[in-house]
Amino acid sequence: MTILLTAVFTLLGIAVGSFLNVCIDRLPLRKSLVYPPSHCDSCQQRLSVKDLIPLFSYLWLRGCCRYCRARIPLRVPLVEVLSGALFFLAFWRFGLSVQFALTAFWCCVFLMIIFIDWEHQLILNKVTYPAAIVALVILAIDTLLPEPGILGNLGFLPQPSILSGIIGGAIGFVFFLIVFLINPRGMGMGDVKLAGLIGLVTGLPLIIVGLLTGILLGGLVAVVLLLLRRKGRKDVIPYGTFLAIGPILALLWGNEIFDWYLGFF
Ligand SMILES: [Zn+2]
Repeated sequence: MTILLTAVFTLLGIAVGSFLNVCIDRLPLRKSLVYPPSHCDSCQQRLSVKDLIPLFSYLWLRGCCRYCRARIPLRVPLVEVLSGALFFLAFWRFGLSVQFALTAFWCCVFLMIIFIDWEHQLILNKVTYPAAIVALVILAIDTLLPEPGILGNLGFLPQPSILSGIIGGAIGFVFFLIVFLINPRGMGMGDVKLAGLIGLVTGLPLIIVGLLTGILLGGLVAVVLLLLRRKGRKDVIPYGTFLAIGPILALLWGNEIFDWYLGFF
């Protein structure tokens, strides 16, 4: 039964990844998510059901459009595989529970942020704002429930979880706002808002894992790119891409990573 459910949720994750690709393609261009229907960006041919089976169509067509043979961006199957893998990991970690559902949901949100920022150097308000509202609603429900902590992610949060989330969000937002005011060239207000969202989702004390991991990753990549002279000091590094990896790790293995960080002190 568990094996069957694992397979079902992994496939669901791959399918959701296919929808995330639509969001990543269209949200930055201010296009509707539903209209026009899926089509090839090169030849404008409308795609049929057999072209749209997540992952399998890509593999079957060997990464090219069936009609004009234009290459399909590697990001398309990558997002589907990552989304499937994160659903698999979340289910493996938390089983059939609210915590699994919440972790899978937030992984989708942060995956979207990761790839939009990677491709456009943009963190969209129309993603961050609704996500922050959803986070607050979840925190409020979790705090009001007779058995607090039942909502999961939230399993990590000290009670009352609404305080933990809001303090976490404030820490992330204020810390990044200060860094942004000191060095406006390094990042944008989008990164500041993202840091606030990460704090809301992970709360105290896991915001340390959620933010520090992203900061370390971003810094590491910046240094490597500078050393390789791939990017000049003035070029923009999609900082949000690295920042948004942090909360995914924090939701899946937050307590373990937290203990590991503590081991350094
Ligand atoms: Zn085409």
